[in-house]
Amino acid sequence: MRTFRLMGVPIHSVSEAEALTMAGRWLAEPEGRHTIYTPNPEILWNARRDQVVRRALLAGDLLVPDGIGIVLAARLQGEKDVHRLPGIELAEALVRQLKPKVFLLGARPGVARRAGTVMEAWGAQVVGARHGYFPDDETDQVAEEVNRARPQLLLVALGSPRQEAFLGLMRGRLEVPLTMVVGGSFDVWAGDKKRAPRLVRRLGIEWVWRTMHEPRRLLRLVALVGFVWTMAFRRGHNGSDPAGETTDPLE
Ligand code: UDP
Repeated sequence: MRTFRLMGVPIHSVSEAEALTMAGRWLAEPEGRHTIYTPNPEILWNARRDQVVRRALLAGDLLVPDGIGIVLAARLQGEKDVHRLPGIELAEALVRQLKPKVFLLGARPGVARRAGTVMEAWGAQVVGARHGYFPDDETDQVAEEVNRARPQLLLVALGSPRQEAFLGLMRGRLEVPLTMVVGGSFDVWAGDKKRAPRLVRRLGIEWVWRTMHEPRRLLRLVALVGFVWTMAFRRGHNGSDPAGETTDPLE
């Protein structure tokens, strides 16, 4: 598996087919505990300071470039053969093709249940669904609820960085062969939100479209600007990433 590092975090360059092969293997290991993350510039920027998020990402088994920001940053580092693999598309392919027993955790009340109905139409068996607005002191109970349902696949849609922090804290407690973070995907599957038109996605500017529709996302541009600035101007002479290599106490 081709791996490169951005800000000290490994990112994997895999096709959807390769990712599905790995996921199929992991789903078939009842005692296995694997995690798929879908980093974007904002998550990597947060992970510079937030050690829980950073540890979660470093413990991940597959980290796929969710957006164009990661692909461009990788190309700046001389990685030519890197392609976007949007998490929402990988998750849908995983459910449609591998038809696992799935638990949906996240989004506003009712949304996970409706997204689950869509997954059942895709052939998956939904063993549980729960909204994502629980207080931090209920985190243990949420993990127990997931474990009791005995899913093969746990989809976590708490948004970033909450979903990464949740897994960073709970990873050891969750008895699930494969866990994947999926951001706002439940809202899309449930039909409450629309993805950008295909052309906009192809051009790699889905984030512009989402910012126009959800102005609160403007704040995220701060992270994006910080990320681009660091990647473009604060690199070592040998093309290395000093932000990742010198500030990472975990490596
Ligand atoms: N969410 C949640 N719990 C929270 C905060 C957010 O379940 O405490 C959900 C929210 O309802 C939405 C998703 O997390 O379904 C985040 O969506 P967003 O589009 O912001 O995702 P991202 O851009 O992080 O992928």
